Amino acid sequence: MMNVLVVGGAGYIGSHCVRQLVAAGHRPVVLDNLVFGHRAAVASDIAFYNADLGDPVAVSQILRDESIELVMHFAAFAYVGESVTEPRKYYENNFVATLRLLEAMLDNGVKKFVFSSTCATYGEPQSLPIVETLPQAPINPYGQTKLDVENCLKAFAHAYGLSFAAFRYFNAAGAAEDGSIGEDHSPETHLIPLVIDAATGRREHIKIFGTDYDTPDGTCLRDYVHVDDLSRAHIAVFEKLERPGAAHFYNLGTGRPNSVREIIAAVEAVTGLKVPVVEDARRAGDPPALYADSRKAQDELGWKIKFTEVQAIIETAWRWHQANPEGFKGPN
Ligand code: UDP
Repeated sequence: MMNVLVVGGAGYIGSHCVRQLVAAGHRPVVLDNLVFGHRAAVASDIAFYNADLGDPVAVSQILRDESIELVMHFAAFAYVGESVTEPRKYYENNFVATLRLLEAMLDNGVKKFVFSSTCATYGEPQSLPIVETLPQAPINPYGQTKLDVENCLKAFAHAYGLSFAAFRYFNAAGAAEDGSIGEDHSPETHLIPLVIDAATGRREHIKIFGTDYDTPDGTCLRDYVHVDDLSRAHIAVFEKLERPGAAHFYNLGTGRPNSVREIIAAVEAVTGLKVPVVEDARRAGDPPALYADSRKAQDELGWKIKFTEVQAIIETAWRWHQANPEGFKGPN
């Protein structure tokens, strides 16, 4: 049993990880400033602190009071387009605040860290599927700030004996199987929730960003991976962090790419509803195809992908949507 501080534990992936930690017998403690997180995404019997990860006084106090042994960090801004127009925000939140968090950890002798990184650190990959050893060359400030943290972690592992794992997520999707928590971003930019909204009529249509890509049906290929599968990898990595200075990088994706059109067809199949579609221009900065080789996580962590089919992922998202069509109600 470990006492785990989950930074961003009221957000989409963090809140699912909190539940997986409880299921695995650990004690999660949540820190979230509720800018994007939802208080209702965290059960009321979990210790919850409304604080900023970049506030070393608050963080130090929590680390000591709760006898924290390991920190997971999910709290980042993640709008790629906004990162291009407002990079200050991204360097401040995603890099500077993370540095403050790491300093508070080191000052309090907490030396195990699990970090949410992204396939956006690879930029336009030289080959597919993407293996961890490919060169990293992000094409936007979002991906760059994540890569900057990865590099900072490497140096801290070497110099200060910090042990860490950085998980490079592909497209996180789906919701808790019981439909109790799920994806609720404001604004929402992700494909699956937007297609569901188009199916139910909450939105007029879904725009397909680009139909002339060099892919089988002309639309972009992405690797959609269930949030609970992502979460389980974060827990499976704990034993790898026992060695001081351990530095691990893992891709997390199913390795099965799906096109935008396939996602729309799968939503129609799951919901039984017709999705109105508008074909639109390419979105700037979208690589044609991104999918993972995640054999490293499977071999080293015994990571098993439960949701191997995108339709099963969409079924969980649909269950959540039906139970909570307005998402988490009330203020964050
Ligand atoms: N996409 C789309 N219409 C939308 C939103 C997304 O065609 O309204 C496409 C987008 O171009 C990408 C894929 O769906 O190829 C997944 O986009 P999302 O924003 O969900 O995740 P990303 O891959 O950008 O992290």
